Amino acid sequence: MEKGSHEGVLVDFVDKTLSCRECSKPFTWTAGEQSFYKVKGLINIPARCGPCRSARKAKLGLPDRAQTEVICADCGQRTTVPFVPRNGNPVFCSACFEKARQSAEIAVPV
Ligand SMILES: [Zn+2]
Ligand SMILES: [Zn+2]
Repeated sequence: MEKGSHEGVLVDFVDKTLSCRECSKPFTWTAGEQSFYKVKGLINIPARCGPCRSARKAKLGLPDRAQTEVICADCGQRTTVPFVPRNGNPVFCSACFEKARQSAEIAVPV
């Protein structure tokens, strides 16, 4: 019996061997990663092997994702948060956040 379960969604990927632009060592671009790229709509194939990619990231000192500049709802200080605040939600600087968190902990009924 034939396995005709081609849904048109899953393309059969096979592991590919690419050579790293940085250290020119061969590395495997796994089928899983390929399908991830496909899902994400990424068209550029990876140019670097895993270790070189993380080394590069570390060197660039990438911040934790996007930092959004906000004004603290408590003290009015300019600060950055590692997320995009939702409309209308108050955002606090780390000091005020910590303060609020601690008082919230205290306020928790026992
Ligand atoms: Zn490399
Ligand atoms: Zn504050």
